[in-house]
Amino acid sequence: MITRREVILGAAACGAASLATTRRTQAAAPSLLETLSDGHLVLPVAFLLPKATPDDLRAVGLELETNTGSLAPDCNVTLHRSDGRLVLFDAGSGSNFLPTAGKLPDSLAAAGIDLADVTDVVFTHAHPDHIWGVLDDFDELLFPQARYHISEAEWEYWISEAALSDLPEERHSFVAGARKRFAAIEERVVRFRSGDEVLPGIEAVSAAGHTPGHTAFVVHGEEAAMIVGDAISNDPVSFVRPDLHWGADQDPDKGAATRGALLDRLAGDRLRFVGFHLPAGGIGRVERSANTYRFVAEA
Ligand SMILES: [Zn+2]
Repeated sequence: MITRREVILGAAACGAASLATTRRTQAAAPSLLETLSDGHLVLPVAFLLPKATPDDLRAVGLELETNTGSLAPDCNVTLHRSDGRLVLFDAGSGSNFLPTAGKLPDSLAAAGIDLADVTDVVFTHAHPDHIWGVLDDFDELLFPQARYHISEAEWEYWISEAALSDLPEERHSFVAGARKRFAAIEERVVRFRSGDEVLPGIEAVSAAGHTPGHTAFVVHGEEAAMIVGDAISNDPVSFVRPDLHWGADQDPDKGAATRGALLDRLAGDRLRFVGFHLPAGGIGRVERSANTYRFVAEA
């Protein structure tokens, strides 16, 4: 079946193909792991740090006594190449969430990557900025050949009644949005549990708290790294005060405990990692600094 998307995109295919070939020829050997931008979000500080005092905010470098400012976190989708696979960790926002986000298709095109070459999409969780991007403007799958991977706990949560009763009414669109994407990927989805090898060399690690089934992934082998999703989501707040309640975490106590454990592991193992909302592409390492932590972004 030829989809509406293919008809429209087909018209531009010849020019795009020659451009992509040129880019590939000129580029150095591709990194096994890199990030592509999906744009950024704009979120009020009062939402992200609902319990922070003016002293807390000063301690993390936010001089916002009135707590009325906003932050503009980047959205970094991780791309991993191995053994003939092209794996994306999360799919971005698509065009229906925020006007500042949903740029992943542009970033993929600029990198010369054909949407049909993406073999797998692995989700950290099902918030809009991570899963809504699986559908294009015509509500068709953006990655037509991909298999989709999500934790059993995350899938079960978003289809449960608890999702609606847990979340305030203004976030009920998150539930409807997740369910719509789940329906679209249902025939191509693989559900995993923490500890499973999701794909060869990619291990699922429970990182619940941000959402009930939120998952981090350890990519083993050359260029080993951990994909932490939204478990460590702000520089400097997540590093300087990992204990602070983060408003985007659906269970803030559990989110803080998970963040503390991940930071301890990443600093102890000197393991490279990727944060979906961290600056400068989101790839870096954690350093211990006195009683706290510091994000060292890769150049
Ligand atoms: Zn999230």
